Amino acid sequence: MEQWMDVGIIGGGPAGLNAALVLGRARKSAVVIDEGRPRNRVTGETHGFLTRDGIAPGEFRRIAMEQMQAYPSIAFVSDAATAVTGTDGDFRIETAGGSSYRCKKLLFAVGMRDLPLDIDGLADVYGRSAFVCPYCDGWELRDRKLVLIVKGARALHSAKTLSGWTNDITILTDGPDEWTDGQREELKRHRVTVFDSPIRRIESADGMVERVILRDGTAVPCAGIFFAPKLAAGSELPKSLGCRVTEAGTVVADAFGKTSVPGAYAAGDAATELYQAVVAASLGSLAGVGINTELLAEAWEREA
Ligand SMILES: Cc1cc2nc3c(=O)[nH]c(=O)nc-3n(C[C@H](O)[C@H](O)[C@H](O)COP(=O)(O)OP(=O)(O)OC[C@H]3O[C@@H](n4cnc5c(N)ncnc54)[C@H](O)[C@@H]3O)c2cc1C
Repeated sequence: MEQWMDVGIIGGGPAGLNAALVLGRARKSAVVIDEGRPRNRVTGETHGFLTRDGIAPGEFRRIAMEQMQAYPSIAFVSDAATAVTGTDGDFRIETAGGSSYRCKKLLFAVGMRDLPLDIDGLADVYGRSAFVCPYCDGWELRDRKLVLIVKGARALHSAKTLSGWTNDITILTDGPDEWTDGQREELKRHRVTVFDSPIRRIESADGMVERVILRDGTAVPCAGIFFAPKLAAGSELPKSLGCRVTEAGTVVADAFGKTSVPGAYAAGDAATELYQAVVAASLGSLAGVGINTELLAEAWEREA
């Protein structure tokens, strides 16, 4: 049997959960459908979220679910949404588990996902001593010997950013790069060592990186790695519904999460390239407000 809800939320990370909290408090009904594969599941701690600095992602979710108990109009379903059809006022979500939900508004809080890591040994250290964002994990590695795996124009920006946490940076380009002499000179001036031999493997013990071995035999000892994994949209469902999506896979949305499809919203990593839990939660909150405002305006019109 199909269930009717005001809002169907696909994705139950910080973005989807914060939207659900706002909607529950605004006395709207919503279903949060989550298959439980958040991008930060590889890591033990989430940093930089005020009052929750250093919390384990699972504990963050446990507290969120506990607090959501106060709002009975919000339902949680462990399942994967496989299809979304319909238009504003009457969307239909189907799931892998065979359920379907009808809702007036939709929120895509589907996050992003890492494509398979293509460096031998990187998966062993990802989330333990190899990270993606110094704002999230730089503090724990401050003043340590760090490797930055990066190529192309982004390298200078990444090195400049990481220099806020350590002045011992080695860039590995994992193959030849096309930097100008000026760019190489700038890195040298800032005492950033560069190796452009391809990476053979990363050696580690219990998740802690010890050294990176290059194909030319060089061993680069280090205590941590920062890199930018290749990303894909957490789900193709926004695209399948017709939402405009950038080349990076981000759903184009306004400040309140409104996408190019009427009645469909997006929040969190799915709708920004600023990948931080607190940002995702705040975008979820804004989308909750945006959706509620639209629902209230429609009800107000109907009742006039
Ligand atoms: C290694 C690592 C460390 C990080 N550390 C930090 C940190 O210290 N501090 C910080 O602020 N941020 C950190 N981040 C970033 C942070 O994890 C993300 O910004 C945040 O989780 C994004 O929240 P979200 O709700 O948008 O997406 P997610 O948390 O990724 O949640 C999306 C959810 O949607 C689900 N989903 C997707 N498609 C479907 C579907 N079709 N049906 C059902 N469910 C679906 C997914 O399974 C997932 O559970 C880190 C990220 C990584 C990779």
